Amino acid sequence: MNGPAISMSAPDIDDDDVRAVEAALRSGVLGLGPQAEAFEQAAAWVAGTAHAVAVSSGTAALHAIVRALGIGPGDEVLVPSFTFAASLNAILYEGATPVFVDIEPDTYNLDPAQIERHRTGATRAVMVVDVFGHSAEWDAVEQAAEGLLLIDDCCEAIGARYRGRSLGSFGRAGAFAFYPNKQITTGEGGMIVTDDPELARICRSLRNQGRGEMGAWLQHERLGFNYRMDELSAALGVSQIARLDALLAKRARVAEMYSERLEGLDRVHVPVVRDHVTMSWFVYVVRLAANVDRDAVIETLAADGVPSRAYFSPLHLQPYVRELFPGTGTLAVTEQVATRTLALPFHGGLSEAQVDRVVGSLQAALDG
Ligand SMILES: *Cc1c(COP(=O)(O)O)cnc(C)c1O
Repeated sequence: MNGPAISMSAPDIDDDDVRAVEAALRSGVLGLGPQAEAFEQAAAWVAGTAHAVAVSSGTAALHAIVRALGIGPGDEVLVPSFTFAASLNAILYEGATPVFVDIEPDTYNLDPAQIERHRTGATRAVMVVDVFGHSAEWDAVEQAAEGLLLIDDCCEAIGARYRGRSLGSFGRAGAFAFYPNKQITTGEGGMIVTDDPELARICRSLRNQGRGEMGAWLQHERLGFNYRMDELSAALGVSQIARLDALLAKRARVAEMYSERLEGLDRVHVPVVRDHVTMSWFVYVVRLAANVDRDAVIETLAADGVPSRAYFSPLHLQPYVRELFPGTGTLAVTEQVATRTLALPFHGGLSEAQVDRVVGSLQAALDG
């Protein structure tokens, strides 16, 4: 092995970030304060929405949205299986029924034609996911989902655009996430973005134990949660989101280095970015040809000091989901794609030499 260890992901923390957190720590206000408000304003600006509500995780953001929209028992919610568990869990927490839909074979986003196919009289909503930072096909989604509530799980896509319009502004509300592997981080954290003032108001109440916004501290209007974002996390968020463009540019540069080198390999498909989409690179996921033994590739890379992951592992095949919904049918594209996708090490700090090393190892693994 040569050169520094290559990690799967890494947060990008600079001196300004450290100073921002230290200032918040010394301010004496550690919860529900001005940093969260400033972070909300910046996030609303990025999403192009009128409102933003900072919460403790992306999962909390999705859950609060589902709850605030009144989605519950008896409601069916269409959701892709090729996503992170949080997209599904937000539906399950409220006792609604998920209906899994298949994906497009190139972008891995929910296939709009599947909405028409699976919608019934009980369908209330669609949980749209912008997978790996590539926007879903929103025009077709909106058309197919006419009359349904659209929620955007854009936790992997902050700063991405669809036909020039920012993700987060589509549907009734969107959710961003700030776990350390995301494009910007707050340690743990999430954000609800919406143009709907009533929805924003209810989400604010839900995150704060159901308190009314102006109400007394011990006045609880509804059953709520502690989904608040603390001031240390929010201060880091303010500092990080100010650098969003630069952080995304670094990631885009690494993605470009990968694609330039991998485009020539005939058993590797590089990520597809549609012409009308501006990607916000979350991960770099290639698709291996059907005749490649992916597990063997992962092992060979690991022996070479290069981490990689089979990613995503479809939700409808997870043990807890199979137990809950034993009758779930097959999702042909999802299942095909999921046996072949491979996430390579990816973050904005990867050097050209490190990318060369990963690509060299992958090439050797494929030839071996
Ligand atoms: C990261 C992520 C979330 C939220 O994750 P948290 O760890 O709760 O912040 C939700 N959906 C998707 C698709 C994600 O990638």
